[in-house]
Amino acid sequence: MARIVIDPGHGGSDSGAVYEGRREKDDNLRLALRVGEILENNGADIVYTRTTDVYNTPFEKAMMGNNADADYFISFHRNALPTPNTGTGIETLVFSNQGEAANIASSINAELAELGFTDRGVIERPNLVVLRRTRMPAVLVEAGFIDNEADNAKFDAEFEQIAQAIADGILNSVNVASTSAMVYDLPFPPGRPCMPLFRIQVAAYINYNNAAATLDNLLAQNLPAFIIREDELYKVQVGAYEILDNAIRMERRLREAGYNTFIVSGCQGRL
Ligand SMILES: [Zn+2]
Repeated sequence: MARIVIDPGHGGSDSGAVYEGRREKDDNLRLALRVGEILENNGADIVYTRTTDVYNTPFEKAMMGNNADADYFISFHRNALPTPNTGTGIETLVFSNQGEAANIASSINAELAELGFTDRGVIERPNLVVLRRTRMPAVLVEAGFIDNEADNAKFDAEFEQIAQAIADGILNSVNVASTSAMVYDLPFPPGRPCMPLFRIQVAAYINYNNAAATLDNLLAQNLPAFIIREDELYKVQVGAYEILDNAIRMERRLREAGYNTFIVSGCQGRL
């Protein structure tokens, strides 16, 4: 499973934005730890840039991610404007709005928007150090405005749902199969226990162009789809997941989108 860096923004001498005594660094830490815990429960390998109230520069945090050889970097922040109570909603920042980072960002935003937050979109911020200096896909989540009464009330009242939404956004868009390709390519050592893995098969075609068209549709919806060549067919699949419940959740989403699907299971290295 993917290794994900969880970066609670600011810390220590750097409080981040402050509104009526409420400090961004505290909200960031609390939310980041909870999202990390949910991801860990779903099989992710989590690396934190901080778990307590300490300061590191954004550059140091980016290097922690690079040194951890992580697959993804997720930074947690809360937003603020010069005039309090003028901004509301969520947004996710990326170095460049393309590829995996863009998929993860829009997936997180979509999940948070379902909770009723205004979706301010995916925004390119090429000058932010944690986005620019990280070598893996990196996103920075602005979980509502800390200088907005309504956003804070929602943050507190729906904290658990917000953490779950961000975790779902990550889990739905992270492609385990591509990030851990080496694991699947390794020959299966005899006597090794089966580490289960689940994928959702969306379609299988004799003709590559049909598979490519289906793949494009899925990728346009930010789904972690890919094509494999098997049994003389081009199979379009989504996943993979180590937790069956996550595969089932994704399959439900695909069926709602009109695809006729089934779940393929096997052992890592064999599937
Ligand atoms: Zn911040």
